[in-house]
Amino acid sequence: MTAPGEIAVEPRGGVLSLADRWPLLALPTPLALYLCGTVGFAAGAAGFLATSTGFRWSDLITFIALTACGAVCIEATRRLGMPAGVSRDLLSAWWLPVALLLPPVYALLAPLPLQFLLQIRVRATVLYRRVFSAAAIGLSAAVASTVFHAGVGDPGGYSFGSGTAIALAVGCAVLFTVLNTALIAIAAHMADPETPWRDVLWDRERVLLDVVELCLGVLVAIACGLSLLLLALTLPPVVLLQRSLLHAQLKAAARTDAKTGLLNATAWQREADTEIVRARRTGETLALLIVDIDHFKRVNDSYGHLVGDQVLAGVATALRSQLRDYDVVGRFGGEEFVVLLPRADVAEARRVAERLRSRVGRMAIPVDDAMITVTISAGVAIMSLHGDDLIELLAAADLALYRAKELGRDRVCLPAAPAASRRVREDEPDCGIP
Ligand code: GH3
Ligand code: MG
Ligand code: MG
Repeated sequence: MTAPGEIAVEPRGGVLSLADRWPLLALPTPLALYLCGTVGFAAGAAGFLATSTGFRWSDLITFIALTACGAVCIEATRRLGMPAGVSRDLLSAWWLPVALLLPPVYALLAPLPLQFLLQIRVRATVLYRRVFSAAAIGLSAAVASTVFHAGVGDPGGYSFGSGTAIALAVGCAVLFTVLNTALIAIAAHMADPETPWRDVLWDRERVLLDVVELCLGVLVAIACGLSLLLLALTLPPVVLLQRSLLHAQLKAAARTDAKTGLLNATAWQREADTEIVRARRTGETLALLIVDIDHFKRVNDSYGHLVGDQVLAGVATALRSQLRDYDVVGRFGGEEFVVLLPRADVAEARRVAERLRSRVGRMAIPVDDAMITVTISAGVAIMSLHGDDLIELLAAADLALYRAKELGRDRVCLPAAPAASRRVREDEPDCGIP
C-alpha cells in the first residue's frame, strides 16, 4: 500500500511556531478539512459497526493472527529502512484477508496497529499523514468487506469454496485498491493542484505493485480461510517480496534528491560521465548548463525555508518540463541545478538555456496571499570548445555562471575564456541579455 511521505519541519530562529508544532494547521483549509473529514468519517463508521457487529472469538483470533503476520513483515524489513517520500509496502497482503474473512469493522481497525508500529519502529512521519493513511485504508477495506459479505453471506469462519466467491474476492480487492488510491490521490491533488490528475492516479510501476498486492491478498485470504495454520506458509514469501520491494525503492531513492525528485549530485555525475564518454567516442556535440536561482536567500529570509523548498521543487519541475527525456538533469546542491544536453551545440544549448530562463521567470508559486516569482542565471559550456571532460566542463560553466551573476543575473552566459572568444561567432554575444 502507498505509505505517507515525509515533510521536513524546520523551526525558524529556533522558535517553534504553532504551525511547526501542528503541521496540520499549516495546510490549506480545504485539504485540512478533507483529511479531518475522512478520519472523522472512518472513526464514526468504526463506532457504528462496532456496536452493530456480533462478537466471535474465532474472528478475533483470525484478526490477531493476520495483524501479527503484518507486524512480522514490518519487523523483518525494518532494518532496511524506508525510502524518503512516498513509499510502498505489501501490507495489503494482510489487510485484504481481514476485509474478506471478517466483518467490516475489523477492516477499519486493522490499519491502526500496523500504522502505529510503522510510526514507532520504522519511521516517525508527520502524525496526520499516518492517521489519514490508516483512515483511507480502513474505509476502503471496510467498503470492500461490506460488498464481499453482501455477495457471499455470513462472513463468520468463511472459506472460499466456489469460483464465484473467488471472483467476487478479486473484484472486492480491486475495489479496495481503487478506493484507497482515489482517497490518497484527492489529498495529493489538493496539496499540489499543479500536479496533473494523471500523475497522482496513474503510474505503471504503481499499478504493477497494486496487482501484486491484490494477488497476494486474495491468495492469503484463501489460505487463511482454509486454515489459520496455513498463514505460517504464506508469511515467508510475503516477507521476501516485501524485502526485495524495499530494496528496489531504497536503490532508486539513493539516486534521487528528495526535495526536487531530480537526480542527486552523485547520480548526476555518474550519468553525466557516461554521456561524456559516449559523446567523445561518437564525436557528437554535448553541452553542460549550471543553473542557479537568483537571490534565493531573499526567498528564504522573506517566506521561510519551507516555502523556499517549495520554490526549489517548483523550479525543478519547470526545468524538467522543458527538457528532453534523454537530457540529464540533477540538483547539484543548494539552489543550483546541472543539466547535460547530449547532441547540443552552442546554438542549441543557448536556446535551451534561454527557454529554461524564460519558463522559470514566468512561473509564479502561490504562497498565502502572495505569488512568489524567481529568476535564474545559467552558465553554458560546450564539449571540446570549453572542456574535454566533466571537471573542465563544470569549471567552464561555473565561470560562465559567475559572469551571468556579475552582469546582473537573470541571463544566460558562456565562459569568456580566450578559447571561447576565439571560436564563438562575433555576431553571437556570449551573454544573453534579457
Ligand atoms: P545569487 O543570486 O548570488 O545566487 O544569490 P543567492 O541568494 O541565490 O545565493 P546565496 O549563495 O547567497 O544563497 C543561497 C541560499 O540558498 C542560502 C541557503 O540558505 C539557500 N538554500 C540552500 N539549500 C537550500 C534548501 O535545500 N532549501 C532552502 N529553502 N534553501 C536552501
Ligand atoms: Mg543563487
Ligand atoms: Mg548558488
